[in-house]
Amino acid sequence: MRIPLLAANWKMNMTRREARVMVEDLLARVGDLRDREAAICPPFHLLSEVGSLLAARPSIRLGGQDLYWKDSGAFTGEVSAPMLRDVGCHFVIVGHSERRALFGETDSSCAQKVTAAQNHGLVPILCVGETLEEREAGRTQERVVSQFRGALQGLALDSGERLVVAYEPIWAIGTGKTDSPEEANRTMSLLRATLAELFGERIAAQVRLLYGGSVKPENIDAFMACREIDGALVGGASLKAESFARIIQFQ
Ligand code: PEP
Repeated sequence: MRIPLLAANWKMNMTRREARVMVEDLLARVGDLRDREAAICPPFHLLSEVGSLLAARPSIRLGGQDLYWKDSGAFTGEVSAPMLRDVGCHFVIVGHSERRALFGETDSSCAQKVTAAQNHGLVPILCVGETLEEREAGRTQERVVSQFRGALQGLALDSGERLVVAYEPIWAIGTGKTDSPEEANRTMSLLRATLAELFGERIAAQVRLLYGGSVKPENIDAFMACREIDGALVGGASLKAESFARIIQFQ
């Protein structure tokens, strides 16, 4: 019942020309998607360009990498949910660990962003994950559940299709190290149980849970074989058409 989602986070990469070449190559490789969805979250300056290229392929959606919770006003450098909608976004990443570590994102700012996204019809991809120190101290589950509860505080969710969660162990992002599929699946089943506590079983069963952290063509099939893993949030391996196409075509 949950449609797999393979989402690309391009981070601060790509010129307009590079983006055009990559997306055209990707579209030529993947054809129409029937039993899965993909998404590309480029940096803001590429949203319009990438959106136009994806217009003929509704199963590959457009997403932003962040948003601010106010609709408009004197917030230099920020982008709002209505602006992301206006340029054709369906998704928006919220609380990526790079934003938490480098730009002061907190659970409470994530909560405001999740609510703003949903109020304007965007689907937030909420990121949670533990540091290496937390993992080694046996605090993974406590850490991700607390981030999760903090960012979902006060949220009224009437459908699980309006939320995506990405579990991304921070030590696995961009490092080439990955969590084992079994361990990731265990943490993600705890997230689903927390969703059930917060929103009820029916909604919890609809929310898509993505794994993120050095996902590559070589490991995607093993992650996608896990019961609780409904897709992946992919950084480095989403920058090349060949590798992202193989990830989308997981078996
Ligand atoms: C990410 O940026 O969310 C990510 C998972 O990056 P990478 O795939 O490069 O580890």
